[in-house]
Amino acid sequence: MNFNIVKIAKTEHNIGMEPIRLLTDDEISIAYDQGKEAVVKLFHETLGKLAEHIQRLEDQAAKNSSNSGKPPSSDGLKKKTQSLRRPSGKKSGGQAGHKGHTLKAVAKPDQVELHRVKDCKHCHASLAEVATQGYEKRQVFEVPPVRIQVTEHQAEIKECPICHQKTVGEFPEAVTQPVQ
Ligand SMILES: [Zn+2]
Repeated sequence: MNFNIVKIAKTEHNIGMEPIRLLTDDEISIAYDQGKEAVVKLFHETLGKLAEHIQRLEDQAAKNSSNSGKPPSSDGLKKKTQSLRRPSGKKSGGQAGHKGHTLKAVAKPDQVELHRVKDCKHCHASLAEVATQGYEKRQVFEVPPVRIQVTEHQAEIKECPICHQKTVGEFPEAVTQPVQ
């Protein structure tokens, strides 16, 4: 089963959730032996709990996301942004029953993978000694069975001193979005 597309952010503090209990082979086998209805029920129960768990993480992530999604260097220009929305009186974050799945980058990924620029992709000059100008970032959100792991891929951006064109390090083929 693929849970790659759910939006989950690692939270700084424990929200006090029950740990997700995975089904044992026996439980699955028993349902299988009992027939289609038991399997359907088991799926609904299990995935329902998982969805609930994810929703709580999403709500928490939404609360924590005010400072995420932008590189540290972009903070300078608008230090004091204020929400134009009036307080609704509801708690912030996803409301109950909210089904939206807008992915937001997290400020502190669990893991960072650097994709280096070795040479200019335009004229093939070596850029090994050229300083990195910045990083183009894409985050992959994954929900492994036990805990959530976010890997940030950082592709180096370098300008070639010879042709003055920029080369960005290559992300793995599967990493296509700023947040996925
Ligand atoms: Zn070049």
